[in-house]
Amino acid sequence: MSENRTIVTCPACDLRETFDSLGAAREAVEEHRVETGHDPTWELPQLAAGVQRAGNEAGVCGRPGCTDTDSPLYQGEEQ
Ligand SMILES: [Zn+2]
Repeated sequence: MSENRTIVTCPACDLRETFDSLGAAREAVEEHRVETGHDPTWELPQLAAGVQRAGNEAGVCGRPGCTDTDSPLYQGEEQ
């Protein structure tokens, strides 16, 4: 159940917090933005890793027939 971790980071003040849901993360981002005027962002580590990997796979060959079906993105949305 800890697979939806969202990390909020702020380049302006080195803020770094981990949240269990994107909703909570977005709330924190909004709050931090209002309180400090900074521009924090959130990231999903696992998705980022998947995108990176998919990017590498796509870089080898762009054709659908060559797509690695083990790629995290290939499974589509399971929520
Ligand atoms: Zn900040």
